[in-house]
Amino acid sequence: LSSKSEVLIEKENKYGAHNYHPLPVVLDKGEGVFVWDVDGKKYYDFLSAYSAVNQGHCHPKIVGAMVKQAQTLTLTSRAFYNDQLGVYEEYVTKYFGFDKVLPMNTGAEAVETALKLCRKWAYEVKGIPENQAEIIVCENNFHGRTTTIISFSNDEAARKSFGPFTSGFIKIPYDNTEALENVLKSNPNIAGFLVEPIQGEAGVYVPSEGYLAKAKALCEAHNVLFIADEVQTGIARTGKLLAVNHENVQADILILGKAISGGVYPVSAVLANNGIMDVIKPGQHGSTFGGNPIAAAVAMAALEVVKDEKLAENAERLGVVLRKGLNEIASRNPLISLVRGKGLLNAIVIDCDEESDLAWEICLKFRDYGLLAKPTHGNKIRLAPPLVITEAQIQDCLAIIEKALNDFK
Ligand code: PMP
Repeated sequence: LSSKSEVLIEKENKYGAHNYHPLPVVLDKGEGVFVWDVDGKKYYDFLSAYSAVNQGHCHPKIVGAMVKQAQTLTLTSRAFYNDQLGVYEEYVTKYFGFDKVLPMNTGAEAVETALKLCRKWAYEVKGIPENQAEIIVCENNFHGRTTTIISFSNDEAARKSFGPFTSGFIKIPYDNTEALENVLKSNPNIAGFLVEPIQGEAGVYVPSEGYLAKAKALCEAHNVLFIADEVQTGIARTGKLLAVNHENVQADILILGKAISGGVYPVSAVLANNGIMDVIKPGQHGSTFGGNPIAAAVAMAALEVVKDEKLAENAERLGVVLRKGLNEIASRNPLISLVRGKGLLNAIVIDCDEESDLAWEICLKFRDYGLLAKPTHGNKIRLAPPLVITEAQIQDCLAIIEKALNDFK
């Protein structure tokens, strides 16, 4: 590390809460699939800020929309109307095929919003006794860091000593429709099923084909809302606009965040049809920044880029190229025990145990060779570049990955 990076890392360590363990690299510039550190070294970004930067770093169209809006009007709060929000709301609802949107800022906030919406719907529409609604969630989920969300996390580090927790959640194994059906059959107070179409933080765990469609059908049969958390999988990341599109599933409540703004500005959204969304009345939910004019302008530009640049198609096509290349590396280097993923949301599983620090060591080596990735576990590394990456760049990255892995042979 250069002294410049060291000084900056020291500042963060001294003055910032230690709630993260970043890879030691200090970035000061990004463009497309690349980021640069403070000493001018260039890297491929294979994290994309946890899939927020799908459109590539500092996309000129998205940044342009932000700058233009910031020079005119930044924030009114929802105490008044603003000239951008309604236009964006019409755009985003038609884009995803829902009647209405509730705008928020972060992924976790949007998940909280969806849970509240589901509970209120349970009482007002489904007729579950007030405050008795239960929501089914999956083992090894990741939906954010708020107190309610960690109430149903499996991650001990995320939960330990943060209680008391929020009740009303029933956890079942992921990718298991039998378990889902059993709970739905035996419990009349179930209001919703909250699921990630692919579990990202769990190490890019892709469920079996047909799981989402079957789960959605079961929910429909029991008048239970299918709530898709597409904060990480959405916005073209997995090779379709939404990961549920792979199985032609329409969620009852759709949760979006991250790449809905191309990583340019915090924007999240909850989408639903009138029969659900209309249970929320003035005074019952909101946020000062949610739906602000910058967010609206930025999200609209970011969603246009996804269509204009055919990012879903690119992710689908190059995901195949990436996994093929990774599998070829695995055939030459037994350190990779498994390659998995969909579109450009992928992971390699390293042949070591989950508590190992090998994946971290490998990521440090990737960094030395000019590629930034981060382990999800001691034995799993997520590989998720911006969706604007080209095939030649994928080949370049495969060479870096193989070279780094060979150092551990
Ligand atoms: N849901 C999913 C599926 C996520 O992957 C994440 C973030 N990794 C979140 C919710 C939380 O989003 P945020 O960090 O913006 O609160």
